[in-house]
Amino acid sequence: MVKKVAIVGAGPSGVLLAHYLLRRSDEYQIEIYERRSDPRTISFSKSRTFPISLSERGMNALRQISGLEEAVKAISLEMTGAIFHQKNGKARLTPRKQPLFTLNRTSLVIVLLEKLNEKYNNSRLNIHFNCQCIQVDFAEKKANFQKNETNFAVDYDFLIGADGSRSVIRENFLDTELFECEQKYIPSDYKSIFIPRPDATVETNLKPDKIHTWALDDGTIFLLLHQRDETISGVIYFPHQNNQLVGLSNKEEVLKFFCKHFPEVGQLMPESEAAAFLARPISRIITVRCNRYHQGSSVLLIGDAAHAVSSSIGQGCNAALEDVVLLNNLLDEYSDNLPTVLEQFTIRRQVDAHALVELGDYAFPASKRLLIEFIFRELISKTLHRLFPQRFAPSLFELISESTVPYSEILNLYQSWISKVKKF
Ligand SMILES: Cc1cc2nc3c(=O)[nH]c(=O)nc-3n(C[C@H](O)[C@H](O)[C@H](O)COP(=O)(O)OP(=O)(O)OC[C@H]3O[C@@H](n4cnc5c(N)ncnc54)[C@H](O)[C@@H]3O)c2cc1C
Repeated sequence: MVKKVAIVGAGPSGVLLAHYLLRRSDEYQIEIYERRSDPRTISFSKSRTFPISLSERGMNALRQISGLEEAVKAISLEMTGAIFHQKNGKARLTPRKQPLFTLNRTSLVIVLLEKLNEKYNNSRLNIHFNCQCIQVDFAEKKANFQKNETNFAVDYDFLIGADGSRSVIRENFLDTELFECEQKYIPSDYKSIFIPRPDATVETNLKPDKIHTWALDDGTIFLLLHQRDETISGVIYFPHQNNQLVGLSNKEEVLKFFCKHFPEVGQLMPESEAAAFLARPISRIITVRCNRYHQGSSVLLIGDAAHAVSSSIGQGCNAALEDVVLLNNLLDEYSDNLPTVLEQFTIRRQVDAHALVELGDYAFPASKRLLIEFIFRELISKTLHRLFPQRFAPSLFELISESTVPYSEILNLYQSWISKVKKF
């Protein structure tokens, strides 16, 4: 039986895994190491968060731990569809059969941490913030950390790299035999936006139960989601090359930009947010494909560390939470025999993880011409499936974000569309 488990990264996947392992057996002693400060103690504006949506894959993973689904729903808003705002002021609604639950990534982590601390005391669980993993010695089963410029080493029986898309644990895999990993930047960068609760006197057509999107001719895409506390959070994606945001040099220009291109949002944006938006750093997203997720019989990568994906299909967190369910099922199936469990994790997850990254890169087209075809295809697929469910599969996006159908099956079904987007 594994005793000492070191989880690197207190993101959604790392914290949910702690819940699952602590519930499994009294023998698991969990230490979580997180490079950042405790999100419960720092101000929201410093937490570098962004809105995320959880669909059935993620909710299913939360549901299996008592109290988590309810706690997450209590801080989320249900989204029953998406509205695409057009240049001419018209808006096109795409309804959903099943709602999405939207919240900020940091709020999700906070609720998972709170529930963890509520259930377990420090005889079996310790969470170390401001501790950055800097190196791992796989042969000696030692992970090295840095806290306040002091280094220390930790022995482990089981080490989990839940440390996100720029994983240090994964970087250490590179020195091991036959490990291959492809990392790529997606062509768009992003900035987050936070709009305070609109004044009751301001009239807005931004329905709170819908995801709002806008697309500009230069490839800029804007996504806006209401939050439970009546604030509105968004992400603006813009091409890495030749983007319009680089030219904005003061808050007046930011406000002008939003009022011109996204007038529904511009009217709600206070000067303070325009200034904060300007100061916020531009972030880049990388995708990751690995040929294995385990190293020997005691180290495993999960979540973004194993398979970071473009946020265009809103699945990174859902898939990260799904990893935890798979790992738990394998521990059941192989009676906690770690060497077999880890090997099986790679075997069972790889095909879906690679398909996920492929879907993230190509399911949603960047070109405006293909975007129109994409909307048309979704509409036809949905109608045909509704009329003849036995003969026609649900649409591509219904399968991705409203089902738990494995990503590899979805890719197989929609391979011709993916190939078309790839060639374009
Ligand atoms: C703009 C944007 C929008 C998104 N929207 C969605 C969405 O709608 N739906 C969805 O499902 N997904 C979405 N995602 C993806 C989602 O945020 C990630 O897939 C998810 O957070 C992955 O969880 P994780 O626990 O694997 O990694 P992370 O959330 O990245 O957490 C990793 C943690 O490890 C810590 N860490 C890193 N390095 C170290 C180290 N060396 N030592 C110690 N700690 C370390 C980090 O500080 C972090 O807390 C979006 C992503 C972005 C960028």
